[in-house]
Amino acid sequence: MNPETPNPNRVLVIDDSEPIHKLIEARLRPEGLEVTCELDGERGIERAISEEPDLILLDVGLPDVDGFEVCRQLKEHPTTRDIPVIFLTGTTSTDSKVKGLDLGAVDYVTKPFDQVELRARVRAALRTKRLQDILEQQSFLDGLTGLWNRTYLDRRTESELTVARRYGRALTLVMVDIDHFKRLNDTYGHLFGDVVLQGIADALRAYARRSDIVTRYGGEEFAILLTNTSLKAGLFVAERLRSSIESRHFEAHDDVVTITASFGIVCTEDFEAERTPENLMRAADEALYASKDAGRNCIHVHGREGVISADQFGDITEGDES
Ligand code: GH3
Ligand code: MG
Ligand code: MG
Repeated sequence: MNPETPNPNRVLVIDDSEPIHKLIEARLRPEGLEVTCELDGERGIERAISEEPDLILLDVGLPDVDGFEVCRQLKEHPTTRDIPVIFLTGTTSTDSKVKGLDLGAVDYVTKPFDQVELRARVRAALRTKRLQDILEQQSFLDGLTGLWNRTYLDRRTESELTVARRYGRALTLVMVDIDHFKRLNDTYGHLFGDVVLQGIADALRAYARRSDIVTRYGGEEFAILLTNTSLKAGLFVAERLRSSIESRHFEAHDDVVTITASFGIVCTEDFEAERTPENLMRAADEALYASKDAGRNCIHVHGREGVISADQFGDITEGDES
């Protein structure tokens, strides 16, 4: 899933007849759909994997591998598994239709097709796909703050580590834990605690770049994955967040309350252990605990030399953001 591109409107046609390609294009383009075509199963599968269309129209009678086998392979591949498939079948035999549906196709259309029916079936399949995408995206969001959740962070860390390795880029993880949050709940109530969590989420969101992945890691802990970001730049971001949280005012009854948070940072540039999501989290967590031990409202870094205070990096408020 790519949460940044939620609008499904691309259809891949895999059929060995060019007149069929032309016919389908002529029927579906006026619906605002982008149509691409392949003539055989093998190239169709390759294209489906590389372009991840929103719907595949698949001919049963293909010259190389038949449509049933293509469907089976599409449903086995993690990238194409959830793309709906509509079979285009020349026969009206029940066996063939049942076989297609059993293989995971969502529907079938019998050739020669009625254009109104084809369009209606395509629209229905795309509607279902869109709802599925929305539901999947919601399962990665935190209900209280609207930030990404921990499941999403785990997935993204995995894929961003791969990108960082491939292009030789740095990846920085910042863990944030609100200080004495339990005391705040006990004094002003849980609802006030929720308002604070939302306020902190707003602060994190406000300072994040588009490429940063801001998550509620759990309870009163947040994690921000900074892609293509050096340790120095990560420290700069963390310091900006720390001071922005500290300078917020929350009104509770007749009091004005200020909140602080402790930070732990790790960057792949300065990391000894194997670069796995678990190791990065653990390291950032250790740095965060060092900030708690040092009296809270401060930042610690987990680097090759162990855990050290951000103060040892000099004036991080002057850092450049690269
Ligand atoms: P420390 O400075 O050491 O981090 O202390 P703390 O009190 O912040 O940490 P602790 O882990 O002892 O307590 C965290 C509290 O956060 C306990 C829990 O009730 C509260 N909490 C977790 N999730 C929520 C939530 O969704 N809403 C509210 N209001 N409170 C929550
Ligand atoms: Mg806390
Ligand atoms: Mg905590």
